[in-house]
Amino acid sequence: MLLVEAMDHGAVRDAARAIGIARVEDFLKNLALTLQRLLREGSELYFVGVGRFAVLTALKGPELGRLVDLLDQALTQPVASGNLFVELEAAIGVVQFTLMPEEAQEALRKAMTAVHQARAAGRSRMVYEQEFDVRHQRAFAILRDLPNAIANDELYLVFQPKLRVSSGVFEGVEALLRWNHPQLGNIPPGVFIPLAENTTLIHDITNWVIDAALRELVALSSRDLSIAVAVAVNVSARNLERPDFIADLERILARHPVMPDRLHIECTEYSRLTDPAIMEVLLKIRALGIQLSLDDFGIGYSNLTCLEKLPFQLIKIDQSLVIPIAGNPRARRLLEGVVALGHGMGFRLLAEGVETQEVFRQVIDLGFDHVQGYYLSRPLSPEALIRFLENPPSIDNVVQPTSGGSGAQTD
Ligand code: C2E
Ligand code: CA
Ligand code: CA
Repeated sequence: MLLVEAMDHGAVRDAARAIGIARVEDFLKNLALTLQRLLREGSELYFVGVGRFAVLTALKGPELGRLVDLLDQALTQPVASGNLFVELEAAIGVVQFTLMPEEAQEALRKAMTAVHQARAAGRSRMVYEQEFDVRHQRAFAILRDLPNAIANDELYLVFQPKLRVSSGVFEGVEALLRWNHPQLGNIPPGVFIPLAENTTLIHDITNWVIDAALRELVALSSRDLSIAVAVAVNVSARNLERPDFIADLERILARHPVMPDRLHIECTEYSRLTDPAIMEVLLKIRALGIQLSLDDFGIGYSNLTCLEKLPFQLIKIDQSLVIPIAGNPRARRLLEGVVALGHGMGFRLLAEGVETQEVFRQVIDLGFDHVQGYYLSRPLSPEALIRFLENPPSIDNVVQPTSGGSGAQTD
């Protein structure tokens, strides 16, 4: 069976707003006729929802492939609707099934999953695989268990030291979230944070992270360290969109005897940062004395000129711009340009993901103000962090070939 999703719900809604539902329906009827004409004997087209058609076919192997090609091609051409042409973003899900009544529903569900996977991967077609369901179930389990993770003490933070080049001192750390799931084991933040970001759970998580990071900061300040380190936490765009964010932040800060300037907030570049409401939140964060860093610069929008309006002090240049500079003059020139522009606009710059001595030397040479990466230290447990800060490697030692990386490390 093929599930052809000519238009997803969003596209149907947008089109209905623009030209009215009656014309959308006409258009879909015409589209059905077009698709029907492409089918030969033994294949049937069914309407299974607005913008969705199922094709039942006995074809297999290369013949089935040719039919999918044909439908795919027809759907990538702009389709005429009255006097206008509509560009569809169609997706086709392919699934095999036998003609048993109980299998029909299941086949439709599987085909839908395949369509969903195709869209997520930016492709126009996908054949259903069992793995999609496994992934879906895993995502479901993660979301189901996340609310309890905080209560059950399954979340914890690790801390990655950041070097300030001018002083040669590790004067800051980034708090990175970890989840030790009782059945699934360690789940990386790159997996569960994006899932949480689709729900309100992200607010509880961020509040927990800020609280735990400040607690660690207090523990560090009770140590006899030569410098007062700052801790940076990662905050999601979704957090900034929530009206209570500032009130929560103030409440959490009030619980800990730390100066607000010891807390840094990192947020990822995204298109809505310049929205007035988000801007106001950023300005309030600054007014509290908290430093703001722009994370992952270089992937996504990377619009330095729009940054001019934003109240960031530090820009973290993503690993993808930093790593290639070793042995690649063009990549180096690109980074040189970013550094010149960033500094020219008054930002401090940090190089992320520095893993080797070669790249470390080059980013120092390029004039970066801060460096972070496995080459200096992996993220550390609180105990390992204290050992690291009590006995930090000097930059001179770090650039010696024999002592790259340092101390007890964890991740
Ligand atoms: P990020 O904020 O860009 O954090 C840096 C990531 O790069 C971390 O991955 C860190 O372990 C890793 N890293 C550091 N140095 C190197 C290096 O030299 N080489 C390589 N290959 N990687 C390096 P991690 O901890 O898995 O975090 C991934 C992402 O998850 C973070 O990217 C951040 O976007 C998100 N995240 C982590 N903790 C939190 C959190 O508490 N809240 C939110 N909202 N997001 C978080
Ligand atoms: Ca970060
Ligand atoms: Ca980053």
